[in-house]
Amino acid sequence: MGLDQKLRECGVVGAGGAGFPTCVKAAAEVEFMLANGAECEPLLHKDFELMKNFPAEVVGGMNLMMEATKARRGKFGIKEKNAEAVEAIRPLLNAERIDLVLLGDFYPSGDEYELVYTATGRLIPPAGIPLQVGCVVNNVETLYNVHLASQGMPVTRKFVSVAGDVKEPKSFWVPVGTPFRDVIELAGGATVQEFGMFVSGMMMGRLSFDLDEVVTKTTAGLIILPKEHYLVSRKDRPLEAMDRIGKSACDQCSYCTEFCPRYLLGYEVMPHKVMRSLGFTLAGSGLWNQSAELCCACGLCTLYACPEDLYPKEACDRSKREMRSAGIKFVQQKPVTVHPMKEYRRVPLSQLRRRLKVEAYERETPYQAIDHRPGVVRIQLSQHVGKPAVAVVKPGDRVEAGAAVGRVKAPDLGADVHASIAGTVKSVTDVFVEIQA
Ligand code: SF4
Ligand code: SF4
Repeated sequence: MGLDQKLRECGVVGAGGAGFPTCVKAAAEVEFMLANGAECEPLLHKDFELMKNFPAEVVGGMNLMMEATKARRGKFGIKEKNAEAVEAIRPLLNAERIDLVLLGDFYPSGDEYELVYTATGRLIPPAGIPLQVGCVVNNVETLYNVHLASQGMPVTRKFVSVAGDVKEPKSFWVPVGTPFRDVIELAGGATVQEFGMFVSGMMMGRLSFDLDEVVTKTTAGLIILPKEHYLVSRKDRPLEAMDRIGKSACDQCSYCTEFCPRYLLGYEVMPHKVMRSLGFTLAGSGLWNQSAELCCACGLCTLYACPEDLYPKEACDRSKREMRSAGIKFVQQKPVTVHPMKEYRRVPLSQLRRRLKVEAYERETPYQAIDHRPGVVRIQLSQHVGKPAVAVVKPGDRVEAGAAVGRVKAPDLGADVHASIAGTVKSVTDVFVEIQA
């Protein structure tokens, strides 16, 4: 069985983003294989801990992906400041085939477009994918899972960091499907009564108050902040209120555009123009919507650049939704040319943490080996880009840890999902399979 088939059956998907099925990447032929260990979400350090504690598995996965894709050269991106991870990974890389790419501590250096440009000097075509410039990019935890899958072991655990207002910020493995309530308890519990949880980060993640939500294959971690924290109130505002404030208060200063990493790379993303769509609802908002198409939702415009605390990123999200439902696709005509000021407008993480008012929460999240055995897990059938898996078990079935509970039929895009604990199937819906230990 080829590696791509093994990855599909073992449910390996991008662990650092939207969950793109890795089997598709393994089936491609490319020039460069890139490992993404950049990790730039403030306060989350799980990739750093993973590289420091499991370097052989990560590099093993990289070698396997290079073989599968016939990559001529590997590029391993890690932030220079993460010296312990660099020292763990460096001796395991075959220097004749793989270069270590040391990155500065800027946001968002882990964005695929940024990393491909930094590591290879190539610019991905507008709305394109790394494959179009001969590259495949994999997050380091995905590479860890590739290594396990090559030995027939499916994805049943997720590596997470827990940070913010918890007694013991740390990083650890938990079975996929573990409730957030357990995850917070494993970090010693919250130190505040009322809190919000940023799932997978404050910049590109989302805010949740639901402790019954569960860990999926793409959950990078939880950041616990008190309910009255500036960021919680900013993110918790209803979309209509965000639009209303933006419509009346945006003075078109264009700072949001001037700091936009995609704009600085040469793509036609102009959030200040997208903000105009809020005021032109009766007179052609569609024109302004187009400037949002190539936005990667990094959040810098809303959470860092805008001096008025407005919501250009959310305006871009809405514009993209509107264009999709109208079946309109903006196609950039201008060649992609890197902005001459790009290097000087990079946003250091220390400055970003200050702007987010989370400086006091910046702490290590050391790895701890924890054998957590939740009483119940909920395995989501859609934890990846593509078609949701179809359940292959029914209530009352007995399953072992690692058994497939949902499958995606080839050639549909997707990956299988597996029981993360041994137990009895309690319920099956269109959304999840619940297993009781
Ligand atoms: S930075 Fe804020 S005020 Fe300035 S154009 Fe952008 S959204 Fe408007
Ligand atoms: S979220 Fe804002 S800063 Fe980030 S890519 Fe989109 S428009 Fe640019």
